[in-house]
Amino acid sequence: MLLSDTLTPAGHGQLGKMISPLSLSPSFSSRPLRYAVLGAGFAGLSVTWHLLKKSPKEKEMRIDIYDEVGIGGGASGISGGLLHPYSPKAKLLWRGAECWKESLMLLNVAEAAAGLSGVVDSDDSFIVRRRGILRPAVNTKNLNVLTDNAQNCDASCRIETIDEDIAQKLLPNIHVPFNSAFYMPEAVNVHPLRYLQALFLACQDVVNESSTSSHGQKELYLLKKSVQSLLELEGEYDAVIICLGAKADMLPELSGRLPLRTCRGVIAHLQLPANIREEYPDHAPSILSDAWLAVQGSRSLYMGSTWEWKSRNSNPNVSWMKLQELFKSFCQRYLPFIQP
Ligand SMILES: Cc1cc2nc3c(=O)[nH]c(=O)nc-3n(C[C@H](O)[C@H](O)[C@H](O)COP(=O)(O)OP(=O)(O)OC[C@H]3O[C@@H](n4cnc5c(N)ncnc54)[C@H](O)[C@@H]3O)c2cc1C
Repeated sequence: MLLSDTLTPAGHGQLGKMISPLSLSPSFSSRPLRYAVLGAGFAGLSVTWHLLKKSPKEKEMRIDIYDEVGIGGGASGISGGLLHPYSPKAKLLWRGAECWKESLMLLNVAEAAAGLSGVVDSDDSFIVRRRGILRPAVNTKNLNVLTDNAQNCDASCRIETIDEDIAQKLLPNIHVPFNSAFYMPEAVNVHPLRYLQALFLACQDVVNESSTSSHGQKELYLLKKSVQSLLELEGEYDAVIICLGAKADMLPELSGRLPLRTCRGVIAHLQLPANIREEYPDHAPSILSDAWLAVQGSRSLYMGSTWEWKSRNSNPNVSWMKLQELFKSFCQRYLPFIQP
């Protein structure tokens, strides 16, 4: 969300006009552009990279990223990292194909900045695990909806309808209710924190390149600071871009004015102990259902679920009982060979 004003920087206790920062009034054209990006999650760092990359090369620019925790301090840093362009009903999301392409490009940017080629992704340092995602249906109604929508999938992220035999070739012994599952071979699994740290590195690389070129200098600062009100930034910036995730609604200037659809999620990191020899097969996909299993390595898995729509509860404490329940019902349904 971009707040900006043609004549004055964001603030004045009201929302500025939403305009492109590059169409600011000529009075700003002689001094470096100053942007504040609030939040260093998926949204904030993507915006930062695009500001640095897409602004005119000759333009001097300074970007201050504010985050009260640091990179990946909110939902992004603890997410499952399952990435595909579809809704839970397998419908292509709004501008899904475009966003999918853009997301893959950003993943490549992050991998390049971290010195990873994207070809080797099975060791413990991967940013993107490219093994696809398997979505079993949860009931017959869901099965019919998924079957219909899968037929209209985007060619860049296909959805194949497969039966249990084929599913078991992907993940031996998996149980697929209704003998039907939906496989997205191009969908990926991201290691969220590594990705965000690498994307920040990519942003720093752009800044460093600018310092050795004859073009306009770019500056980038990450400030570990909580912003309680946009008034705190008044007079300092040409534009303030708000990427605070679910917490955007807590700014007094925006409270109750955003059509946010919030929900609460839980996630558990499961690590196989050294004395267990079996591993999650290296070629096997992640699993996405009402709960999900995001594979982070052959001995390291994230299991989670996002639910409680409209929740405003951001308490990080989750009861062990709740996690056990989740783990048990997921395994009973899809992975009966695991005894939780
Ligand atoms: C458990 C869980 C698992 C998930 N798994 C997936 C998944 O597998 N796939 C998927 O697509 N989505 C998943 N999601 C959803 C996804 O993580 C979020 O939609 C996404 O991370 C939102 O990114 P964001 O950058 O908008 O917000 P955030 O990541 O929340 O970033 C906001 C940042 O702002 C900072 N901040 C907040 N308030 C202030 C303030 N006042 N001052 C300064 N800084 C502040 C925070 O510290 C944070 O770093 C999951 C969510 C959860 C909770």
